[in-house]
Amino acid sequence: MPLVVTGSVGFDSIEVPSGEKREHVLGGSCTYFSAAASFHGPVRIVAVVGKDFTDEQRAVLAHFGVDTKGLEARDGKTFRWGGRYHANMDERDTLYTELNVLGGEPPRVPEEYKDADVVFLANNPPRVQLDFLEQFPHKRFVVADTMDLWITTARAELEQLLTRIDGLVLNYDEAELLSGKQNTVAAARDILEKGPRFVVVKKGEHGCLFVHREGIGALPAYPSERVVDPTGAGDSFAGGMMGFLASHDVDDLGRFDAVYAALVHGTIIASFTIEDFGLGRLQTLKRQELLERLEAFVKMLRVPGL
Ligand code: AMP
Repeated sequence: MPLVVTGSVGFDSIEVPSGEKREHVLGGSCTYFSAAASFHGPVRIVAVVGKDFTDEQRAVLAHFGVDTKGLEARDGKTFRWGGRYHANMDERDTLYTELNVLGGEPPRVPEEYKDADVVFLANNPPRVQLDFLEQFPHKRFVVADTMDLWITTARAELEQLLTRIDGLVLNYDEAELLSGKQNTVAAARDILEKGPRFVVVKKGEHGCLFVHREGIGALPAYPSERVVDPTGAGDSFAGGMMGFLASHDVDDLGRFDAVYAALVHGTIIASFTIEDFGLGRLQTLKRQELLERLEAFVKMLRVPGL
């Protein structure tokens, strides 16, 4: 089923606790999402870059088979973001956000993308996410991401969005901010009341909580010994999850068990993303490695002796 993601493509500057620093790393939500989703099937992106975005950078996305017809190049500079990780590698400070072309009009959805069934609205102002929704008349399954900035500055529009989507994926601190509830389960249940069928609350190295109208689930993160750069973990988690769902031609993609299985795929691909800066690890990742880790993780979830 055609899968499309709307969000950012940009250049990141990343500092990790070891003191290592990387500049001008190809990043952005669409980048990580689409690279991760590509392991399951075709994926299209809708994003905007500046004239400083090179053919080589476009080729990196093409290497993953990502359809970049919806990657619009405009006069101006590409979005830039800088982050510095705390010692625990889970928390980070944003050092700067230069919206550049991302601050202008959102990109238009190409005509040939309008048949998309499965849509992921990565982090964007909710007004822009609502506008994107209108541009997919055939959508069957829509999941969105959001962030603290929109929860505090655009709550009314975000609440409108929540009535129009199947699922919401967000971090635990954002769930607390959106619901006013400190307990993650209570926070997720509160968000369900606002409209979506399910909420996935990400907890970094502690995995995720999944609250669905039909049940509740929780997954640990894959226990990684080597975390080099956590940037993009959340977006590739969403990419693995949505890519898996889009590759399954079932009537109801939002079913409890389908989404739960998809979260396992998200967890596994995210565990590879964090093993290197940027897309480094996903660029060398073989399908076989992915399947082996998936199998090991599923085995781990079945506790022997119980
Ligand atoms: P994640 O680590 O999965 O939460 O996502 C990291 C990516 O989000 C980085 O590659 C950034 O370029 C991108 N990003 C950070 N802030 C923003 C923002 N305000 N709007 C869009 N993308 C952003």
